[in-house]
Amino acid sequence: APVAIFGATGFIGRHLAARLASEGIRVTGVSRSPDSRVDGVGRWQTFGSLDLSGHRAVVNLSGHRVDCRWTEKNRRAIEDSRTGLTRRLVEHLRGLDPAVRPQVLVNGSGIGVYGDGGDTFLDETSPQGADYLARVCVDWEAAARGAETLGVRVVLLRTGVVLGAGGAAFDKLRTIFRLGLGGKLGSGRQWMPWIHLHDEVEAILHALRSPVLSGPLNLVAPHPERNAEFTRKFAAALHRPAFLPVPGFALKLALGEFAEAMLGGQRAVPAGLDHSGFRFRFPTLEEALVDLLGER
Ligand code: NDP
Repeated sequence: APVAIFGATGFIGRHLAARLASEGIRVTGVSRSPDSRVDGVGRWQTFGSLDLSGHRAVVNLSGHRVDCRWTEKNRRAIEDSRTGLTRRLVEHLRGLDPAVRPQVLVNGSGIGVYGDGGDTFLDETSPQGADYLARVCVDWEAAARGAETLGVRVVLLRTGVVLGAGGAAFDKLRTIFRLGLGGKLGSGRQWMPWIHLHDEVEAILHALRSPVLSGPLNLVAPHPERNAEFTRKFAAALHRPAFLPVPGFALKLALGEFAEAMLGGQRAVPAGLDHSGFRFRFPTLEEALVDLLGER
């Protein structure tokens, strides 16, 4: 039976679609505007024509970008494309005959659900935060958990910053550092949870396939870095200097309220992935950066 991917046109979604297709799994993409150029998607549905009957699983990777000014309009888009869309997805599942209803929902969420955790190690049992992004994630996860009452296995992907070409964060970092303009943000002491795109996609596959997994799952490499160290290693991999620290007020000017999220951090660890036998291909930032930035 096919797997449906919401957000299959996105950065993570399109790589997941190609990966599933490479295993011979049929993929249905769900999108506001289907893109026939996405590799691996055999069939498209829009929200108007949604019919998930006969699918074995659903992966929801939709969401309006968060790295923008959080104006009222943007907040509405950020929230509606996550909590709102997920609620509608679960309502759709509720309306299906149980005999043809997908049995697994792997739903996006972010490591921002913990808020700014300081130096505390964060695993899936750690308390949730109370800032804006944390509240968005809490509501989003609660909406997805609505499917549990239908007997659906629900996994909540708490993803860190995904490093891979085509990712908004990674592309921005690479451009800034190539110009020699990279520097630590604020004090640089905040922790940056990151994950290589390859491991992100494999971890989603692992979540789809592991019946023991349900509830929150941290998708972060086992070795998070403080922002200053992340910066130093990123610059070194590109043979560029990293000496211009970016002060908090400059970030706030450039990013609006999203700066708040960049000045805090999460020392998150992948406890759930470790315990369920997942093996990272890129456990350290050095290994990830050699792959992503190394000369070939
Ligand atoms: P992208 O921005 O690349 O893609 C997200 C998809 O969401 C788009 O392809 C789009 O699909 C859909 N979308 C965007 N805006 C809206 C909207 N207003 N209403 C409905 N759908 C919308 O995201 P990523 O692939 O990078 O990330 C996937 C999910 O994981 C997102 O929710 C993101 O917040 C989360 N995440 C990502 C991280 C990262 O580093 N990349 C880190 C942590 C969490 P279409 O236009 O086809 O409808």
